[in-house]
Amino acid sequence: MSCHQIGEAMNSVVNTVFKLYDANELSKKTAITLIKSLKNGVNYCDGNEYEAVESVSKCRCGRCLKILKPGVDRIYYLVGLSSNDFLKISDREDVAYENLCVECTDSVLNEYFHDENAGQKYRDMRDESDPGDSEVEEY
Ligand SMILES: [Zn+2]
Repeated sequence: MSCHQIGEAMNSVVNTVFKLYDANELSKKTAITLIKSLKNGVNYCDGNEYEAVESVSKCRCGRCLKILKPGVDRIYYLVGLSSNDFLKISDREDVAYENLCVECTDSVLNEYFHDENAGQKYRDMRDESDPGDSEVEEY
């Protein structure tokens, strides 16, 4: 059985990282490094990495860190990739967590798969298999 408290604890610090980032007290690179570290931190207690970013993963892109607008923007969780591809993309220095806006989904997947339509194909597949999953929530 996994530990949920450590995910909640790390998520509270992720919220602080974003508070500082939004106040221009942290660079994007520093914020991403801290968030990746907080996500990894859940593994000290058999936690779930997605829980460390639960408060932001449906409303902020994990790469450009932009706050998305419900009903206007979409956000794509990269869980539909093979676990090998998912892990390689998670390891990228510029990806804090695997929920990306349309532009970042396209940019990251097109580059990774060397296919200028890879992001679009992934988004179409996700929209078809689970249309509600890419809906943005209020920040
Ligand atoms: Zn983005």
